[in-house]
Amino acid sequence: MGGGVVVLAGGTGGAKLARGMLDVAGDELTVIANTADDIEIYGAYVSPDPDLVLFWLADVIDDRGWGLRDDTFAVMDGLRGLGVDVWFALGDRDLAIGIERARRLADGARLTDAIADLAASLGVRARVLPMSDDPVRTWVQCRAHWTPFQEFMIRGGAAEPIQNTRLRGVENARPTPEILAAIASASAIVIGPSNPVISIGPILSVPMMRQALLDSPAPIVAVSPIVGGAVLKGPTAAFLRWAGHEAADGAAIAACYDGLIDGLVADEEVEGLPVLQTDTLMTDAASRRRLAAETLRFAEGLAA
Ligand code: GDP
Repeated sequence: MGGGVVVLAGGTGGAKLARGMLDVAGDELTVIANTADDIEIYGAYVSPDPDLVLFWLADVIDDRGWGLRDDTFAVMDGLRGLGVDVWFALGDRDLAIGIERARRLADGARLTDAIADLAASLGVRARVLPMSDDPVRTWVQCRAHWTPFQEFMIRGGAAEPIQNTRLRGVENARPTPEILAAIASASAIVIGPSNPVISIGPILSVPMMRQALLDSPAPIVAVSPIVGGAVLKGPTAAFLRWAGHEAADGAAIAACYDGLIDGLVADEEVEGLPVLQTDTLMTDAASRRRLAAETLRFAEGLAA
């Protein structure tokens, strides 16, 4: 197939698939990453999902699943020593990335450019694009109280019952020219196995994004984040329930993307659309590459 491969990603699941896709598509890969989890803290601008994707693509992700491998935490220790409530931990070099990004943004740079700078400094040649340069923030309502996503997730451990969610700023957000160009020229569009409600949902909620995806001649397939009938990490099941899906299964994932996707990759049978049934667990480089390659071949077949 000519043209590029576009992957929509949140954190872990989407990032791991993107790493596999890098092996398969090389520099032709463009990742569109969720920025509704972004947070400004310690004077830094932290963009967790684009950063996680970049750390994976550069092979510098730490085994703990976030942050840079072998990073130190002297600043966080220092803040604690000053009596600061350090509920959002950042490694020292991770903090440096966020501080430099905050400076770039304060100087008037676009988030797209600030993230491209980080890609360049990590030696990543595939593109990682924030879903918008405009600020969008997920807020979660629990027990009648609204909290920013990271406070719900990290400070609260995603333990509170979810009553509602809101994407602040989304109505004024727009996809960037880079995103529209990548989507229009894509040969395949893959929705990564990320939380469909809270990671992929914000990307699809940016006005014009969904239409741009539908207008693209490229086939659109999603990879299910449900593995062996369960969610591997994070509050995917709770958010699916909030969105009205009783069970966290392939059918719920297909329903989330109804009207958008041409096919689903899952490790279970799902009715009502073309499904590639295969092992979707990504435990190492070989399994990431295999899933990426199978997903691309599946998309290719749907385009024919
Ligand atoms: P977060 O921002 O790190 O919580 O990440 P995401 O939204 O990207 O990912 C959370 C989802 O990724 C969960 O539903 C997991 O089940 C899914 N996930 C994590 N690892 C894998 C994997 O190896 N394969 C698949 N198919 N899904 C995965």
